[in-house]
Amino acid sequence: MSVLERYWGYSTFRPMQERIVASLLGGRDACVVMPTGGGKSLCYQLPAAVSEGRTVIVVSPLIALMQDQVVQLTAMGIPAAFLNSSLESRKQPEIMAKAAHGGYRLLYLSPERLARPDTFAWLERVPISLFAIDEAHCISEWGHEFRPDYRQLKRLRQHFPERPLAAFTASATRRVRHDIIEQLGLRAPDKYIASFHRANLNYLVMECAGETEQTERLLAALRAHPSGNIIVYAPTIKRVEQTVAELAAEGVVAVPYNAKLPAEERRRNQERWMSDDVRVLVGTVAFGLGINKAAVRAVIHLALPKSVEQFYQEAGRAGRDGLPADCLLLWQRRDSGLHGHFIAQIQDAGEKERAWKRYSEVQDFVARPRCRHRQVCLHFGETPKWQECQGCDVCSGLPAWLKTDNGFAPTRSARLGFATAANPQGAVPDEQLKDYLREWRRKTAADQGVPAFVVMHDTTLDELCRARPTTLAEVRAVAGIGEKKLATYGRGLLDAMRRYQEGARAAERRVSMSLPERDTLRCLREGRSLAEIAALRARTVGTIAETVAALIERGETEVPDGCVDVEKRRAIEEQCARLGTERLRPLKDALPEEISFDEIRVVVASVRRAKESGGRRAV
Ligand code: ADP
Ligand code: ZN
Repeated sequence: MSVLERYWGYSTFRPMQERIVASLLGGRDACVVMPTGGGKSLCYQLPAAVSEGRTVIVVSPLIALMQDQVVQLTAMGIPAAFLNSSLESRKQPEIMAKAAHGGYRLLYLSPERLARPDTFAWLERVPISLFAIDEAHCISEWGHEFRPDYRQLKRLRQHFPERPLAAFTASATRRVRHDIIEQLGLRAPDKYIASFHRANLNYLVMECAGETEQTERLLAALRAHPSGNIIVYAPTIKRVEQTVAELAAEGVVAVPYNAKLPAEERRRNQERWMSDDVRVLVGTVAFGLGINKAAVRAVIHLALPKSVEQFYQEAGRAGRDGLPADCLLLWQRRDSGLHGHFIAQIQDAGEKERAWKRYSEVQDFVARPRCRHRQVCLHFGETPKWQECQGCDVCSGLPAWLKTDNGFAPTRSARLGFATAANPQGAVPDEQLKDYLREWRRKTAADQGVPAFVVMHDTTLDELCRARPTTLAEVRAVAGIGEKKLATYGRGLLDAMRRYQEGARAAERRVSMSLPERDTLRCLREGRSLAEIAALRARTVGTIAETVAALIERGETEVPDGCVDVEKRRAIEEQCARLGTERLRPLKDALPEEISFDEIRVVVASVRRAKESGGRRAV
């Protein structure tokens, strides 16, 4: 059995991993740029696993990540330890002694730890096989996360001239790459630069007139993603708190994350989000480092990030599972003013200049109607062969849930702004056709007893919508359809396309159900009340109410019996007729005190559902 299978249980390497491992085992220096989630850690862990009696030293600034990796490695039977400020001081000598005897295959050090005067003398005694520098872009002033303590790493090459050095980063422009190589003193390193193109991400950039509009759009986005986890990035701690409150007023439960919260609460909030208890997290940029959650369906920015790298890194936390995800950047003209204000206060002339440069790049990124994916690639020194993508507002237009006509009440019909100007009519994906094909896929999958993505990936459905094939040969030409798929589904697909041409439409939109939703639905069917479900699932009633409302809105269930009493329900419905169901706050204000947000939320969901399905039937 291969080492990869034996320890990791993986059958194949990810792109580039095998070659990187070979470089490191061959004792060569290396510079690796690979997007987050690409599988960098395995590149230095595997060489460690096969080198008995020798130790890979990993330098990382992320304490939580070190701890996670050490726990995982230990569980896999690979001896590993870390030394950093979080460790009790009495444990340190023990670890250091064991390390000097080659007791670890991997040893993780923080840059501060490395900088301590006694560290190098001790490291001389450790049987080091190589140094792996994680987050290597932190060594460069040109990077967006420069850390002065990373400059200490220059000394590694001087002290250990014969040990190989490997630098790893998820985000480095050409300039930063050169800087990393120079500062670390890498010798003719093998370079591995992965593509920065993340085709499953949909980059959506939109200028907003003010915070009110941003909030409206944020709500529209949350409604458009009724299941799955979401990260909202706010520019300041105040804005984090304000956003959480605004969402609460609309019946959306969200947890805050910022540096000012007590560590305990921060951890708890993160944990609730990680475990899918609460699906929306509103945080400052402090959130996300070392977070390894694959199924994030959207990342929403409420302000212009400081740099394109920062945007790429934060937005890139969406869709790590490879499934489609939205990266929505809601910016205001004012953001630029704020950036300018902060940059003006920077004392160091060099740093000031670099900050200006980053800022003008990110301004260019949002303001110019050029393919976002392409701009990102170009920013990182990669020149794509294509000019247009299938997943950005410039190439494909804004999705239905973001489009507006008057004011900012989202509607289905209107289209918007410069995106439209740069967007030829034909390139707009037909949402109705997509819904129809989704329904076809669901039925086909159910007939065959396989998951939907086995029938066809979402990206293939998108392609089909664009290509609108009418012959088998045209179906075959669509990306994602090989011979086998053509033989199995080709005919059925053409039939579906023909029925659509003749006027057939999807019966309803469906979204797959998350685990907490299924769990809650089961409880509802057992006739339990919201409070009972909350107690059973150790969640707040608010969280349960939000889940139930989402289920109702999608037509998965009715308003549960005993959840809202008849009188209250009638009162809420009356106010809905009068005030509409766009916002909950006005409804709450108009209703008697004793009617709770949770009750309103649930009834509003059923009213919205009734309108939706009524509207559909009328079409
Ligand atoms: P990075 O450090 O580049 O952000 P990680 O090393 O954390 O990425 O890897 C991301 C995820 O991919 C992890 O869950 C890891 O277990 C998984 N992974 C890495 N290599 C492989 C592989 N060859 N096959 C399957 N999964 C892999
Ligand atoms: Zn594009």
